[in-house]
Amino acid sequence: MLDHIVSPIPTPDYDWQAADAAHHLHPFSDHKSLHQGRVRIITGGEGVYLTDDAGHRILDGMAGLWCVAVGYGRQELVDAATRQMQTLPFYNTFFKTATRPVIALADRLTAMAPGDLNHAFFASSGSEAVDTALRMARTYWITRGKPGKRIILGREYGYHGSTTLGAAAGGMVDMHRQGAVLPDFAHVMPPYWYGYGGQMSPEEFGLYAAKQIEDKIREIGAKSIAAFIGEPIQGAGGVIIPPETYWPEVQRICRENDILLIADEVITGFGRTGRMFGSETFGIAPDIMTLAKAITSGYIPLSAVLVGDRVADVLINETGEFYHGFTYSGHPVACAVALANLDILESEGLAARAEAKGARLRGKLAEALGDMPIVGEIRGVGLIGAIELTADRRTRRFFERRGRVGTICRDHCFANDLVMRAVRDTMVFSPPLTITDDEMDEMVARAARAIAATQADVR
Ligand code: PLP
Repeated sequence: MLDHIVSPIPTPDYDWQAADAAHHLHPFSDHKSLHQGRVRIITGGEGVYLTDDAGHRILDGMAGLWCVAVGYGRQELVDAATRQMQTLPFYNTFFKTATRPVIALADRLTAMAPGDLNHAFFASSGSEAVDTALRMARTYWITRGKPGKRIILGREYGYHGSTTLGAAAGGMVDMHRQGAVLPDFAHVMPPYWYGYGGQMSPEEFGLYAAKQIEDKIREIGAKSIAAFIGEPIQGAGGVIIPPETYWPEVQRICRENDILLIADEVITGFGRTGRMFGSETFGIAPDIMTLAKAITSGYIPLSAVLVGDRVADVLINETGEFYHGFTYSGHPVACAVALANLDILESEGLAARAEAKGARLRGKLAEALGDMPIVGEIRGVGLIGAIELTADRRTRRFFERRGRVGTICRDHCFANDLVMRAVRDTMVFSPPLTITDDEMDEMVARAARAIAATQADVR
């Protein structure tokens, strides 16, 4: 009903829970179990805190979905959107047109980016950015007269979005089982030392995991492979932080086999790892980079694909028309918000801040949780990190029925007014980069209560 749409509170007795259950399909949700409980309805946000309709003040240890880098309630972003909406709320970038915000953003992003990523394409979501990157990689090889180079190499537990191409490139088997399986995709093991490292040191294991890529390339044949796609840190897969030896070796393997390297920086872009881009933190020189989320701090949907000179030269000078684009490619309001967001990131030095704050946070977590038998590892880079919950910290043994303990812990976090996400039995966090020391101490205290309660439940 229209009054339900235009008014934030239609009537005092409007049943939000019933309406949600009856009409709203949520992403990544088991609706049957969802409707057995209450949906948490978020009503506001300020800094690192959210409020819900039950009056809770919740510390958002996930920055939304890894995106609200500058925190909630930033008037600068509201003002940028308002000004642009008043001037020009929409125009497309097809058919020989552009708007000033999209040009300014392309210029600024490519100046910020490492290496020769001198060209930017825009879309609205990380998934669309990944789709675009994969289409570009294949088009590059087709243009160069090597149409057989089609296969995209990804990793188990990789997450590259929810479009069919992105889900096929990712390594989430549950998504594959629901139809997201396409020909010309292959996967290798992730550089997940805690889970798969066995007796190897992290450094040895980094080389071992990279070698799996080399072996896979031998098996398939480099002449059939277009690109390797990887997140510098696998976020949704459980904040899998590769050992230092991994990325330089992956870079070498891709170069030697003439395989394009796509860095999916949808989570790691814009300061999260302590540098502006995860590629800088890990010494990666990608041919193509995908960005989204913190590009606008999530205030409005926007994503970007940055393309290096080698690929761009072919696409620009030889391909002719690239038959690809979205109505909202380079949306002027989203680009204006991104520019204001980059102003904040730079003027407040949030990338460097993430490095310092992240080190402090891990120190505090180690103090508070380090002796708990259920805590196997606390890891992180900048302000992204994970706490492994384990059945045996000495042997790094996983719990049986993986995911059960993580879900219990996630619920205890909620009960303690803290958002942390569970990936299997790994608790992951990525708070706004603006988090203060006091807020971090509060986050640690809440996490400690939640994990102690989980330990009491499962032991
Ligand atoms: N790539 C990575 C690395 C991501 O983490 C995500 C989302 O979490 C995506 C792509 C997809 O982004 P979106 O949900 O905006 O489509």
